[in-house]
Amino acid sequence: MRTLTIRYTSFRTCPNCGGRGDDGASWRPFVCKRCEGRGRLVTGVEVEDSERGNLPRSAYDFNAKGEVYLLDLDEDEPVEVIRPESP
Ligand SMILES: [Zn+2]
Repeated sequence: MRTLTIRYTSFRTCPNCGGRGDDGASWRPFVCKRCEGRGRLVTGVEVEDSERGNLPRSAYDFNAKGEVYLLDLDEDEPVEVIRPESP
């Protein structure tokens, strides 16, 4: 099966929580909604396609949570996405 291997290449500190991952409340702090507790946002990814090699940046999109979307993927094609444990 075709596989896509995702690697995160760069991050920035979450500006919403300052890298803490929560709102800093001393009692029952809330997990930061923006980074979901990770404290950082994904700003760069690499996607390696088992058929096409490293994909150009124009072939995919990603968000700060590290979710990657292929722009030209055939919906019917079975693809296994291998992503890091956590951004
Ligand atoms: Zn945050």
